[in-house]
Amino acid sequence: MLQAKNYKFWFCTGSQDLYGDECLAHVAEHSKKIVEALNASGNLPYEVVWKPTLITNALIRQTFNEANIDEECAGVITWMHTFSPAKSWILGLKELRKPLLHFHTQFNEEIPYDTIDMDFMNENQAAHGDREYGHIFTRLSKERKIVVGYWTDEKVQKRIGSWMRTAVGVLESSHIRVARVADNMRNVAVTEGDKVEAQIKFGWEVDAYPVNEIAEWVADVSEADTNALVEEYYSKYDIILDGRDEAEFRKHVAVQAQIELGFERFLEAKNYQAIVTHFGDLGALKQLPGLAIQRLMEKGYGFGAEGDWKVAAMVRLMKIMSAGMKDAKGTSLMEDYTYNLVKGKEGILQAHMLEVCPSVADGKSAIRCCPLSMGDREDPARLIFTAKEGPGIATSLIDLGNRFRLIINAVDCKKTEKPMPKLPVGTAYWTPQPNFETGVEAWIMAGGAHHTAFTYDLTVEQMADWAAEMGIESVIIDKDTNIRDFKNELRWNSIAFK
Ligand code: MN
Repeated sequence: MLQAKNYKFWFCTGSQDLYGDECLAHVAEHSKKIVEALNASGNLPYEVVWKPTLITNALIRQTFNEANIDEECAGVITWMHTFSPAKSWILGLKELRKPLLHFHTQFNEEIPYDTIDMDFMNENQAAHGDREYGHIFTRLSKERKIVVGYWTDEKVQKRIGSWMRTAVGVLESSHIRVARVADNMRNVAVTEGDKVEAQIKFGWEVDAYPVNEIAEWVADVSEADTNALVEEYYSKYDIILDGRDEAEFRKHVAVQAQIELGFERFLEAKNYQAIVTHFGDLGALKQLPGLAIQRLMEKGYGFGAEGDWKVAAMVRLMKIMSAGMKDAKGTSLMEDYTYNLVKGKEGILQAHMLEVCPSVADGKSAIRCCPLSMGDREDPARLIFTAKEGPGIATSLIDLGNRFRLIINAVDCKKTEKPMPKLPVGTAYWTPQPNFETGVEAWIMAGGAHHTAFTYDLTVEQMADWAAEMGIESVIIDKDTNIRDFKNELRWNSIAFK
């Protein structure tokens, strides 16, 4: 179900006609070579498309408006090969609605010491052409990404590739539709928020359905379809009976298979890419969707628990931003559950009642059926596993009443010191950066929620750039965070984002 379009990025080179046709021919030739090298590098997740050199106000405006209406164009990469007077860019930039990357590079790597003359200097002027161009963005207060460096440098290419995923997140955000099954859990604050403002800022459509409307889609799933999916589960996952009767266990698993198929058909028919449930409002559903939701998340749907539609949309967003990534390690809803406070081993055990996405699992998952200590339904089947090790990011989008804030925490995932054989849920375990005390203190000070959208596959920079493009506040908690500066940042942001 997870589909990112066949997005492309336009490469637009700026120049002017002051230096004659021969110079312009070189500009075009050089920018074509750069585009070819970027596409051949293997460091970019999407194709770059060369566009004719932009030398006039009219052509810039026309090209950017073409970018606006081209559904496959996810963003524009610009570079001033020579000097391009920036007033020519004002109207085009004001009308451009796609993300823009300012690639500050030059065609030659080294100064050609023996041959350099004024003709060469006039032809290769990115050093001051790009300054003139950059100035007008600042004057217009227009968001853009700046990447500096030589175009064959792998690090530079990877930064462009990384930004491409942010740009796709910006475009795809407005295609996220969240189906709310029932309302939010009573009395909980952080799962609330202004859905109208979310649509204005992010383009998200968030719609509620009575639980029994979706339960009817579940009831309509045939026994044959259900059994076929149960077979697939049994072939794909380990089964841990915990002493339960085999036939009774299988019936419990079948309830989840029927929910998975019913929910998926509902979401597909109504074009939703994310869903929330609430354990306190299950209507005719026999179990809290556990295994079913885990499988839907693995297929690319966003999910938030207890009606948490902001997390559901963020999980979907982060899944689509990391779509097609080689060696992806996974993206999921997480919940800060319980701490290990032993000196030198501090960390946060992450889980949920059931619904952690198996895309983060390290190795094969297993199905167990266990009582849920909350609610009034039969014991739900769920997938259990432990998550992979390595760096990741946990994000929390909160509604502060007058604005949204995205909190982004770099975390280091590890294995717990010992296995937890009695814990029947998928888990992760991490230590927040810069260390447990500062990371947790900053998170709480910023108002971060207990639900997060977590991924191994995106960076702090990508999510902060996404927030900037969306025009919302973001704060980063990582190796550079200290409490005194962080507190001031929150204080100043409350003025800047008023
Ligand atoms: Mn929860």
